[in-house]
Amino acid sequence: MNEIAINATTVNGERSHYEPRTITTFVPNSTPMNIRPRRTRKTAISRNMVAETRLNKDMFVYPYFVTHGKGVVHPIKAMPGISHFSIDTLIEDVRKGLQHGINKVLLFGVGEEKTEDGSSSHSHHSIVPQAVSALKKEFGDALYVITDVCVCAYTSHGHCGILEEGYVNNDKSVDLLCKMALSHAQAGADMVAPSDMMDGRIGAIREMLDDHGFVNTGIMSYSVKFASAYYGPFREAADSSPQSGDRKSYQMDPRNGNETIREALLDEDEGADILMVKPALAYLDIIRRVKDATLLPLACYNVSGEYSMVKAAASQGLIDEQRIVMENMTAFARAGCDIIITYHARDIVEKGWLNGAI
Ligand SMILES: [Zn+2]
Repeated sequence: MNEIAINATTVNGERSHYEPRTITTFVPNSTPMNIRPRRTRKTAISRNMVAETRLNKDMFVYPYFVTHGKGVVHPIKAMPGISHFSIDTLIEDVRKGLQHGINKVLLFGVGEEKTEDGSSSHSHHSIVPQAVSALKKEFGDALYVITDVCVCAYTSHGHCGILEEGYVNNDKSVDLLCKMALSHAQAGADMVAPSDMMDGRIGAIREMLDDHGFVNTGIMSYSVKFASAYYGPFREAADSSPQSGDRKSYQMDPRNGNETIREALLDEDEGADILMVKPALAYLDIIRRVKDATLLPLACYNVSGEYSMVKAAASQGLIDEQRIVMENMTAFARAGCDIIITYHARDIVEKGWLNGAI
């Protein structure tokens, strides 16, 4: 190896504000070459031996959309392969997933009564608490049930909180979210996952749960949730589009990186058990930065738009679905994710993709 010095005091002929520095690089000396990174890439066995990122099914969480009724399996057009389920069909589908090792689900409620104040969000008659208790009765601790906590599917205006003169009131919304989280805990949820992006809601929910004896109900915080166009298909799935305006006054600006660390550390201080970055694919740099800033487990949400783009391209024969999906999953893990919430989870385990080449 030779060390070569590169003078970096000028950039495009302009004087740089950077100090001169020496860049050390590898330059082959002479033949025979003794350093050949390709050696360990030669066979599948040696590639697997030195692989730095290894996926396993314990990382995956599978989202479900649950609705009222009986015998409902209603395919969501914008998300090929994903459906709305009623509680009875949900139980059967979860059973199939469990046989393949999908033992963590994230529940969203659909088709609830929508009111200005989102009051149905914390009713014990709402579909999510009912689904939680049915699932826990059927599967007990063999299934880990996480619930989404946000009111946008329960408000007539479709915003994630209490709307006052076009602005979502933070503190009143937090009160509502606390009641919603409590109703899920009382139904038996193992973990609640607030996705609203209100300030201070993790601490408030933690206190509410603790005050009612739910000290062991976990909180997975959507700590870093961007105002993203990647949520498009989900809004059909959850029927949760804002009727006016957008969510930019509470969800994060995709141009910001430092602010994500601030949000993540606040949630850590407030008592979150798991942090999350959402969406995933366009935010791998953020996943890495948050992972480096916290000791908590980190999840990412591989969202509906990311999923549906892959499905659409695969259905047209433009890409190899298995390899694209596994390359994406590997990227999330390599970037620092311990947990991956993805609509692809069932395909991955049921079709044996974890054992295939990427
Ligand atoms: Zn919401």
